[in-house]
Amino acid sequence: MDCRSARSVINSAILDALEPEAQREVRTHLSCCPACYVEFERSRRVLCLLADDRCAAGPGGLELRIVAASRTRTVSERTGLAGLWRQLLGSVSAI
Ligand SMILES: [Zn+2]
Repeated sequence: MDCRSARSVINSAILDALEPEAQREVRTHLSCCPACYVEFERSRRVLCLLADDRCAAGPGGLELRIVAASRTRTVSERTGLAGLWRQLLGSVSAI
């Protein structure tokens, strides 16, 4: 198994959701590839945090801040696109 193949199934391997043979191949690759092992550990920690109810909500309203930031970005992106369209339509109508 090469690095690309290992990384494509790394989350499934962490969740033990692969077929036994594929699970063994990933484990074998991780035992001899430090870069993929680091990625495996990083992903494993993230998945553990996501599975932990105490961490899922995040400290100090983190979840609410993330949702609010994503809404703000979406609105500003829309405004940006709308502004661009107005400029383009204004240019076309001026011709
Ligand atoms: Zn690798």
